[in-house]
Amino acid sequence: MAHTLLTKLSHLGTATCDELHPRAPVALPPIRTSTVRFNSIDDLHDTYKRQAAGERIVGYGRMGMETHAAFEQIMCELEGGKRAFLAPSGLNAISMALLSLLSAGDHMLVADCVYGPVRQLDDTVLKRMNISSTYCSMRDMAILELNIQPNTKLIYVESPGSLLFEMLDLPAIVEVAKKHNLLVVTDNTWGSGIAYRPLDLGADVSVVAVTKYIGGHSDLLMGAVVAKNDSVIKQIDTNQYALGFSTSADDAWLAIRGVRTIDVRMKRQAESTLKVCEFFNQQAETLQIYHPAYEKDQNHALWKRDALGSNGMLSVALNFTKAQTKVFVEALELFSIGYSWGGYESLVDMVNTDFLKKHAYWNADYPSLVRMHIGLESVDDLIADYEQALTKARAVKW
Ligand SMILES: *Cc1c(COP(=O)(O)O)cnc(C)c1O
Repeated sequence: MAHTLLTKLSHLGTATCDELHPRAPVALPPIRTSTVRFNSIDDLHDTYKRQAAGERIVGYGRMGMETHAAFEQIMCELEGGKRAFLAPSGLNAISMALLSLLSAGDHMLVADCVYGPVRQLDDTVLKRMNISSTYCSMRDMAILELNIQPNTKLIYVESPGSLLFEMLDLPAIVEVAKKHNLLVVTDNTWGSGIAYRPLDLGADVSVVAVTKYIGGHSDLLMGAVVAKNDSVIKQIDTNQYALGFSTSADDAWLAIRGVRTIDVRMKRQAESTLKVCEFFNQQAETLQIYHPAYEKDQNHALWKRDALGSNGMLSVALNFTKAQTKVFVEALELFSIGYSWGGYESLVDMVNTDFLKKHAYWNADYPSLVRMHIGLESVDDLIADYEQALTKARAVKW
């Protein structure tokens, strides 16, 4: 019987309960080990053989035991991939994907809206290995094609983008990539397999910061790289092994625990965020609201066509001086100041507008940008909090 994703999220990776195990817990326990024991030399040799053939079979603790394997399977279902590889953080998942797929002399095209630290990975590691990159807006396919070089190997995108949640036309980007024989790697932390599924839209590799919506409780750092075709899977598999990436069984267990409720959490957060968009739409200081699920967002039509849902992330450009914006952000009582997201709690950050200059999508005439994550609190309480904080900011005389 074929089950839908939601059913699988509740049933995959539970502890076995059958004739051999007539009493069992619901959750698979975290299986911690460094050393794996083999019943015989034949079993050890059989393991080597099957590993060499690409099978995901346990031979040593670094590659993860049953808890990890269960979470990898859940990640495959979430993202629509064939193999998932775990990394100790989201940024590590990005570096694993890029170090696996790029070699000295290669060039990659990067969307200018990607997660900031990618530029650091690029500047400090990739450049040193003679891997070059070009950052560009990926809204215009003609510009994208113009930036392709003879040694371009890969297009790296994040849709919607970090900071401004700029929805990209991923199927169009994939078409350009196919024409030029390039791989498409996406950061799907925003969609996390629930709200957006890049592999279904043609991407080759989806990287997800499990840290955010999948973990869901701001207490876990983990990343995953999910791939769907065999040659890419083999490349990542051998590189992940060679680079020695490893994640703890306790973290894999927490990730499984988090993912059970991802759909209801994201739906509630998305619903509250639309109400927050409506609220900001009514405020005189609001210059622009960045949240693709909101009908007034510039890319709402693309969101409607390609996304399956939304989440609690939004940014609002405010016609406030920096001093007023700071008062607004600091006056909020229910929002912690912080730049992560995906947990159950609301967060707010005053984005450095100098950094936004790197994004073609940003309107440099706007004086300030506030980025927010809407948590699971009552949205009425959050809106009341905005009201009192806006009153304080308005009272600031420049
Ligand atoms: C947070 C984040 C990452 C990095 O995840 P970490 O686990 O914090 O390293 C990568 N991409 C996006 C879009 C993120 O928001």
